[in-house]
Amino acid sequence: MKMIELLQKDTLSISFEVFPPKTDSTFDSVKVATEEIAKLRPAFMSVTYGAGGGTSRYTLDIAKNIKELYGVPTLEHLTCVSSSREMVREKIAEIQAAGIENVMALRGDIPKELQNVDRSRWDYQHAIELVRELKESGADFCIGGACYPEIHPESVNQKEDIHYLKEKVDAGCEFLTTQMFFDNNLFYNFLYKIREAGITVPVIPGIMPITNANQVARAIQLSGSFMPQRFKSLVDKFGSDPAAMKQAGIAYATDQIIDLYANGITNVHVYSMNKPDVAEKIQANLSDILGK
Ligand code: FAD
Repeated sequence: MKMIELLQKDTLSISFEVFPPKTDSTFDSVKVATEEIAKLRPAFMSVTYGAGGGTSRYTLDIAKNIKELYGVPTLEHLTCVSSSREMVREKIAEIQAAGIENVMALRGDIPKELQNVDRSRWDYQHAIELVRELKESGADFCIGGACYPEIHPESVNQKEDIHYLKEKVDAGCEFLTTQMFFDNNLFYNFLYKIREAGITVPVIPGIMPITNANQVARAIQLSGSFMPQRFKSLVDKFGSDPAAMKQAGIAYATDQIIDLYANGITNVHVYSMNKPDVAEKIQANLSDILGK
């Protein structure tokens, strides 16, 4: 099923993100974890591409598995920045052949070792070029793009970031998913600004349940997200007690989702990080709201 159809519901829908394994030896454990999450029957599941320590090689296998065994709509991520046009075209053909209908078109992070090289001759500089490549492939994909309520770390300012976001949407993105945030007001402000800039496609907020104290530093480093005092207090209080931290982090994420829904947002994506127990608890916390 296409994402754009899924996003039409006016009641709360929760979706989960998983990432592929790093190595062959961890493939089976990731497969089991993603299957456990699929059994919760989320609105859809996204599978990252080479992010979060996973490798691009397994993204399609995991996505196909979720779709074929559990019938859960799948959103396959694809990045372009350090790939050749030939590689990207080959990947697009494979995704199409596997019957995956939804693709998240991403630039990808510049690998550390390539940050100082001349990138002007690379086949792709920005995600918009991948959106165009997907369109030109002739496949009937529903294409999504990433967006950043707290601006992308490389952007000079929000105005410029939103300007390029509008170009990306105009090139063919039918929906957007946000970077994680821990203060919903940042998301509401962002939504107001992009609507004002003429971006009208559905925007899915991405919520990351922080379930251990070490994750906090990594989340900030990856996303540059602002940590509200309410969240910092929670980490101060429970950070040294793993079970309590997990419970508090899940409660915080649940609270964010309830507030989003109360403010008219019907689709929320949860960065569940291959943790079926976390996905299950969030879903259980929302059971009456979700009607599950
Ligand atoms: P772009 O849209 O290209 O934007 C990157 C920067 O370039 C921004 O500052 C933007 O303002 C600027 N820009 C855009 N277009 C232009 C232009 N034409 N000219 C000049 N500047 C421009 N990474 C992975 O490796 N794998 C994943 O699976 C993955 N999934 C993600 C999912 C979500 C929801 C999000 C939010 C991020 C994800 N990422 C993933 C991380 C992402 O790849 C990085 O954040 C990356 O740095 C930017 O990707 P982008 O697609 O937003 O890039």
